[in-house]
Amino acid sequence: MKTQVAIIGSGPSGLLLSQLLNRVGIDTVILERSSRDHVLARIRAGILEWGTVELLREAGAGARLDAEGITHDGTFMTDSDLMVHIDFKDLTGKQVMVYGQTEVTQDLFEAQDRMGTTIIHNVEDVAIHDLDTTSPRVDYTVAGERRSLSCDWVAGCDGFHGVSRKTIPAEKRREFERVYPFGWLGILARTAPIDHELIYANSEHGFALASMRNANLVRHYIQVPLTDKPDEWSDERFGPSSAAAFRPVLRPR
Ligand SMILES: Cc1cc2nc3c(=O)[nH]c(=O)nc-3n(C[C@H](O)[C@H](O)[C@H](O)COP(=O)(O)OP(=O)(O)OC[C@H]3O[C@@H](n4cnc5c(N)ncnc54)[C@H](O)[C@@H]3O)c2cc1C
Repeated sequence: MKTQVAIIGSGPSGLLLSQLLNRVGIDTVILERSSRDHVLARIRAGILEWGTVELLREAGAGARLDAEGITHDGTFMTDSDLMVHIDFKDLTGKQVMVYGQTEVTQDLFEAQDRMGTTIIHNVEDVAIHDLDTTSPRVDYTVAGERRSLSCDWVAGCDGFHGVSRKTIPAEKRREFERVYPFGWLGILARTAPIDHELIYANSEHGFALASMRNANLVRHYIQVPLTDKPDEWSDERFGPSSAAAFRPVLRPR
């Protein structure tokens, strides 16, 4: 098989890149390690910055986002007893949009289906060859059969743990990483948000974020030791008593 741009990974970056290239007449093939169902079931981002919102619209994948997304003018920050509001719209003229990554990915898959793009799922053992030439090649296995994709360019959109980053020679690779000595536990709960905007909190217990996906679905994060396991966090530990204890004071702006 041959294409202009071989894209590895069908997360938001691979799908959006493919969509933007297809719209200006550049041919792509996407190779994805997982099934479409698996990609669509991954719960990750929920807040889109305005540049992303505008890019999705420009890519022809913004209709549902505009119909169902919730715009926020700003966010709250608190350090236990004080809460301040940062008004993005007032300060920068821009807002943010609450719209789940799963929804973004679904919209992009559907946009790519309309374009007729070839997306090959469940590929294994992806290997990039001749990357420093004008005719690189990506080999992969699907349904037990080894195949080859010739191209002009390879776009590695397969994340930190993918094959692309490792294929870039060490002397040419530049990595930017900050490692924190704690983890975040993310909780998705079918309940109304505690406020109409997000609250980023710092306290003696560490970081916490009260985020949301929609008017009936919240996404909360709390700081935990790296050794904690999800089953150590029972529903009772997130009970109403801890929510009731959270009553910060809004400092006048
Ligand atoms: C819990 C959490 C919350 C987040 N919240 C936010 C937020 O609120 N706002 C925000 O902007 N960002 C947020 N992010 C970050 C955001 O999710 C990532 O920036 C985004 O997923 C990156 O997209 P991507 O397409 O580059 O990579 P990914 O989404 O990781 O996609 C990479 C794809 O490549 C595939 N792949 C990997 N290896 C191979 C291989 N060898 N061969 C073929 N395919 C392969 C994977 O299966 C995957 O589908 C959050 C992330 C997490 C984990």
